Amino acid sequence: MSEEFQYDIVIVGGGPAGSSAALTAAKKGMKVALLEKENSIAETVRTSGVTWIQNIKEFGIPDDCFNPISNFSFCSPNNEVSIKDSIPRAAVLDVRKTYRWLSNEAQKAGADIFVKTTLKILLKMKKATLQE
Ligand SMILES: Cc1cc2nc3c(=O)[nH]c(=O)nc-3n(C[C@H](O)[C@H](O)[C@H](O)COP(=O)(O)OP(=O)(O)OC[C@H]3O[C@@H](n4cnc5c(N)ncnc54)[C@H](O)[C@@H]3O)c2cc1C
Repeated sequence: MSEEFQYDIVIVGGGPAGSSAALTAAKKGMKVALLEKENSIAETVRTSGVTWIQNIKEFGIPDDCFNPISNFSFCSPNNEVSIKDSIPRAAVLDVRKTYRWLSNEAQKAGADIFVKTTLKILLKMKKATLQE
């Protein structure tokens, strides 16, 4: 048995890009579906989670989702660069918590989230539409 749904926008993938796109679109009043093939959002983590605090703030991510860092080093087999900041500008995210916060915010803004849902069929667009 199949069910039919109507959405303004269907986003594939509940990673940080998909969840933040869903949040933005839902806040703008669009009817949004977010599809994630895994059993839950952030079931598999694919990042070390290092990012900039300025970007974290732009998304309104809560303070308990990240640890600020002020001293860090980039290391290669033959070189190393260390950076020290008096004020921390970088941070390490609690990745799972952050991604779930983003998707929860999207849901609160009205997006429908479908987990265990894999997009398998590509939509065919008319040639004329593609050329516009
Ligand atoms: C080892 C490693 C370390 C990293 N460290 C950092 C770091 O420190 N800082 C940083 O900024 N970036 C880091 N990155 C990069 C970061 O992980 C990516 O930039 C980020 O995850 C991309 O987000 P995304 O939402 O585009 O994709 P993803 O995080 O890959 O999310 C895609 C989602 O789509 C789902 N999906 C895929 N296909 C389908 C389908 N057909 N139907 C339904 N769902 C589907 C997947 O299950 C997944 O949940 C790292 C990457 C790796 C591999």
